[in-house]
Amino acid sequence: MLLILQCTGESPDDLSWLLHKHPDRAQRFDLSFGRAQLFYPHNSRDRCAAALLVEVDPVALSRAKPGQRSTTPLEPYVNDRPYAASSMLSSAISQVLGSALNGRCEKRPELVDRPLELEATLPVVAAHGGGEALVRRLFEPLGYEVHASRLALDPHFQEWGPSSYWSVKLRAKTTVRAMLEHLYVMLPVLDDEQHYWVSENEVEKLLRKGREWLAAHPERELVTARFLKHQRALERLAHERLDADGAREPAIGDAVESELEARWSPQKNSDAPGKTPPLDARRREWVRDALSARRARRVVDLGCGEGKLLAYLAQHSDVSHVTGVDVSPLALEIAQKRLDRLGPSQRERVELLQGSLVYRDARLVGFDAATLIEVIEHVEPERLRWLEDAVFAVAKAPIVLVTTPNREANAAMPGVGPDTMRHSDHRFEWTRAEFSAWCARVAETYGYRFALHAIGDEHERYGAPTQAAIFEQRSDDRSDAPAIPSQPEVQS
Ligand code: SAH
Repeated sequence: MLLILQCTGESPDDLSWLLHKHPDRAQRFDLSFGRAQLFYPHNSRDRCAAALLVEVDPVALSRAKPGQRSTTPLEPYVNDRPYAASSMLSSAISQVLGSALNGRCEKRPELVDRPLELEATLPVVAAHGGGEALVRRLFEPLGYEVHASRLALDPHFQEWGPSSYWSVKLRAKTTVRAMLEHLYVMLPVLDDEQHYWVSENEVEKLLRKGREWLAAHPERELVTARFLKHQRALERLAHERLDADGAREPAIGDAVESELEARWSPQKNSDAPGKTPPLDARRREWVRDALSARRARRVVDLGCGEGKLLAYLAQHSDVSHVTGVDVSPLALEIAQKRLDRLGPSQRERVELLQGSLVYRDARLVGFDAATLIEVIEHVEPERLRWLEDAVFAVAKAPIVLVTTPNREANAAMPGVGPDTMRHSDHRFEWTRAEFSAWCARVAETYGYRFALHAIGDEHERYGAPTQAAIFEQRSDDRSDAPAIPSQPEVQS
């Protein structure tokens, strides 16, 4: 993949000082995923052009990483990774042009803040989910003149029509540092690749690179969601931090998952649109009603995430105590903030614990009810049996409520479709038959009976968007934990 930066105007050679690379030399750099070369295809009195060429190692790329999903069997070998501008190009920018990106120029420090006539050329850009319009929405608010032309699928066979890739030129009078920051953030956003893990470090990188322009960018929510690979908890953290910097009114970005679910459209003649509460609110009401009908007083919310259900139960139910458990410290941090906003009598009924549900945990024993709300689909299928063991054999609450997406209903969600999942972290989404079979096996194995429920408006063909089950321990069950192989030792 290739990026060409070009400078015109009075002193185009300023570009080479800022990039910290001599215009007469071609330099090569090793990267974790391949190698980069920096060279100057043109350097004259009126124009200086620097090219960053990144070659990825196709063998390393073809080795699937944990949690990575291929869409087709050939996908690991035949894909656009070697040529479409992506986060790998951002990473090359930061490694090869780090001083320029961070605003350092020891020999000519006065150049750092000088706006120059700059042009960036990106020969191949994926621009998923919007094409040229998306490129414009991202770069025009930052002051760029945008030129985008669609690439043919194969220039030798024009009758095959256009590809889904664009060639893009961006022009502005701006500093080299600002242009590199914009590219660094926007390249992965345009690419919207979902296949690698991001952590809190990416939030830091996003906020650092975007500190002067992201908070006020009209596409802030999209930029944050895509840069952070749709990890909801990270997005929230980024929005909170952007808002805390006082740059903008409170974030309006809702969870991507809920956004997708909000597009659920059952039969046209259903209740007045917009009047029904969002699906996650309906799940909370369903949980509250199921708990109160069974007089559960002490509840453990397994995989509590950002703590919405905890806060809701503390405020709107007659449970006396609720413990939230999650594996993610970040989710718990956000949950903690939410709980801190409760009144003291509600706050003291809630407790948070960090823990993984695929391990037996004595702290989870002794509750009247356990809830697993939109959690099982985040667990690798081969580890799900450890969760079943920890929840149904060890914690063993007499009542267990489980909800999970109904995959069939995705067909009625614009932007999701029958073959995609609602969230990038989902490891699976089940049909109603698959969920029902799982419930039957779990109930049978651990001595429970179960009833299936549907949450959300039901489509006559696809059912409701959320499927749910209420497990109740059979009173005749005297079984101890069934024999199982030893526990996994490392937590991934
Ligand atoms: N129940 C919440 C959150 C659902 S998102 C809600 O309905 O909004 C799924 C949550 O499960 C995430 O917060 C994730 O961190 C958590 N999770 C995933 N795997 C887990 C595991 N092995 N142990 C504990 N929590 C887990």
